[in-house]
Amino acid sequence: MKLMKKIIIVGSGVGGSGIGALIAKETPHQVHCFEQNNFIGGRCGSYEKKDEKGRIWKLDVGCHVFSTSDKGPIGEILERCGKKIKWSYLDQLFPTLNFMGLDFTFTLQDRKRKKKDFQGLLEEFPDLDPSKYDRITLMDFLDDYFGPDKKNLDKIGFSMAAGVIFGTDPYSTSAGEYLRSMIENVKHLSNGYPYGGTGVIPKAFCDTIKENRGKIFLDGNGRVKRIVVQDNKVAGIEAGPDNEFYEGEIVIANSDIKSTVFKLVGEKYFPKDYLQYISELKWGAQVCSLKIGIDKVLIKEKTLVYVPKMDPDKAKDAFTDIKQSMKDFLENLEIPEFTVLLIVPVSNHDPTLAPEGCQNIHTVTATAVGKIKEWTRDEDKKWEKTCLDTLISLNPEIEDHIILKDFISTSVLATRFGKEGVGTGTAQSTDQVGKLRPKMLSPIKGLYYCSSDVGGWGIGTELAARAALELFQMFKNNNFSNNKLFNNFKANF
Ligand SMILES: Cc1cc2nc3c(=O)[nH]c(=O)nc-3n(C[C@H](O)[C@H](O)[C@H](O)COP(=O)(O)OP(=O)(O)OC[C@H]3O[C@@H](n4cnc5c(N)ncnc54)[C@H](O)[C@@H]3O)c2cc1C
Repeated sequence: MKLMKKIIIVGSGVGGSGIGALIAKETPHQVHCFEQNNFIGGRCGSYEKKDEKGRIWKLDVGCHVFSTSDKGPIGEILERCGKKIKWSYLDQLFPTLNFMGLDFTFTLQDRKRKKKDFQGLLEEFPDLDPSKYDRITLMDFLDDYFGPDKKNLDKIGFSMAAGVIFGTDPYSTSAGEYLRSMIENVKHLSNGYPYGGTGVIPKAFCDTIKENRGKIFLDGNGRVKRIVVQDNKVAGIEAGPDNEFYEGEIVIANSDIKSTVFKLVGEKYFPKDYLQYISELKWGAQVCSLKIGIDKVLIKEKTLVYVPKMDPDKAKDAFTDIKQSMKDFLENLEIPEFTVLLIVPVSNHDPTLAPEGCQNIHTVTATAVGKIKEWTRDEDKKWEKTCLDTLISLNPEIEDHIILKDFISTSVLATRFGKEGVGTGTAQSTDQVGKLRPKMLSPIKGLYYCSSDVGGWGIGTELAARAALELFQMFKNNNFSNNKLFNNFKANF
C-alpha cells in the first residue's frame, strides 16, 4: 500500500481544483482545498443574485468562452474524474464581431476562403511550429506574413483577438503562444459554454476531491493567512478565523504567484534573485465585468465582440498607423465613454440561466493593458457606466428592460480573487511563454504553484487547466517526492 500524503491547496480556481481533482482521483493522497470566498471556482466560479421579484439568477465571476470545451484540457480533467457536463457550442470559429455597426460572422465554412486573408492565415497554422515564434511579437509575425503596412484590417483583427484572449497588445503578445492556441481552436472547432454556468467546472473538480477522501474549506474557514515554512521546507498552512495550523508536506498555491511569495510565505524565505524575478513578472490586462438581466430577449448572438462606433478621423488614423494608435491606446489610462466589449448572453447558451422570457447578459472589457493601476471606487463606477452605455449603444432598447445588474470591477476582482485585478494571470508575452513560462516548482521544498500564472499554455481557464495536468504529471514522474522535485527546480531555475 502506497503511503498517503497530506496535500494542501490554497484556492479553488480551475488550476487549484483541477490539480486537486487529479490527485484525489488518481492517487491515494488526501487533498484539503482552502477557498477564501463563499463559493468555489475563483474567476471561473458562479454565484447567485435575486431580482426584485425574488427570482434567482446565476452569474459568472468572469469567464464566458471556453476555447475547446470538452475537447481541451478541461475536458481531459473532467473525463479522468469521470464527470460529465453538457456544453453549448458556438458553431463558429470566433465570436461574431460587430465592428462599428458592421457584422462579421466567422462561420466554419469561412475556413475554406483563400489564403493570405484573416482566415487564410489560420488555414496555414497547422504547418507551423509555434515554439519557433515564442520570442517573436504578434505584430512582427503579422508584418512578416502580410508585409509591413499591408492588410491593416487583418492585423487589427488578429491584434484584437490577442487582446480578447490573452489581454496583451500585439507588440508584446507572443506569436508562438497565439499560434499554439489558434491551431488548437481550429483543430477542435469546439468553442463553447457549459450548461449551468462556468461554476459547474470547478464544482465537478471539487466534487471529485470530496468523493475521494478530500475536503473543501470555504469562506472564513477557507481563508489561508500563512503558508508555514520551516528549515526551507513547507510544514503546512494557517487558516480560518483562529489561524488554525493544518499540517501538509505539499502545499499547492492556486493563489496568485506574487501574493503567494510576498504575502502568504514571506520574502525572508526566498533567495534574493528569485524575489527579484517574481516581482518583475508582468501581468496580463486588468479587466472588469458588467452583468445585466433584462426582461426581454434582445441580443441574438451567443457571443459577440462589439467595437462601438468611434470618431471617423480617429478610426481612419487607427487603420493607417496601427503602431501609433496602439501606443496612444496603451498610454491612455483615462476611462473612455465607450469601450470594446466581449458580450456573452449566457442564457442564449443555457436558457435556464434566466427566468422565462428574460435574458442574462455578461460583458467584459479591459481597464488597463500592459500596466497595473489601482482603480478608485469612483473610477470603478465610471467603468460600470462605460460598459452599460456601450451595451446600450449596441441596442438602445436594453435600457428600458434592465431588471438586474451586477458589476465586478477591477478592484473587486483584485480584492476577492487576487492577481491585482487581471483577467487571466502572468502575461503571455514573448518573455513569459514556452521555456520562459514561470515554473510551477519553487525554491522551497514542498511549495508548488498551479494557476494561470505558471506553466501551461493556451487561453484563460485552459491555461490553468493545462498547468494542473502538467503539475500532476510532474508529481507522478517524481513519485510525489519533494526532494526529487526540488532538485529538478534547482537544476532548471
Ligand atoms: C472578467 C473575466 C473574463 C474572463 N473571460 C475568460 C474567457 O472568456 N475564457 C477563458 O478561458 N478565461 C477567461 N477568463 C480568465 C479565466 O477566468 C482565468 O484565467 C482562470 O479562471 C484562472 O484560474 P486560476 O486557476 O489561475 O485561479 P483563479 O480563478 O484566479 O482562482 C484563485 C483562487 O484562489 C483563491 N485564493 C487566493 N488567495 C487565497 C487565500 N489566501 N486563501 C484561500 N483562497 C485564496 C481565490 O479566492 C480564488 O478563488 C476571464 C477572467 C475574468 C476575470
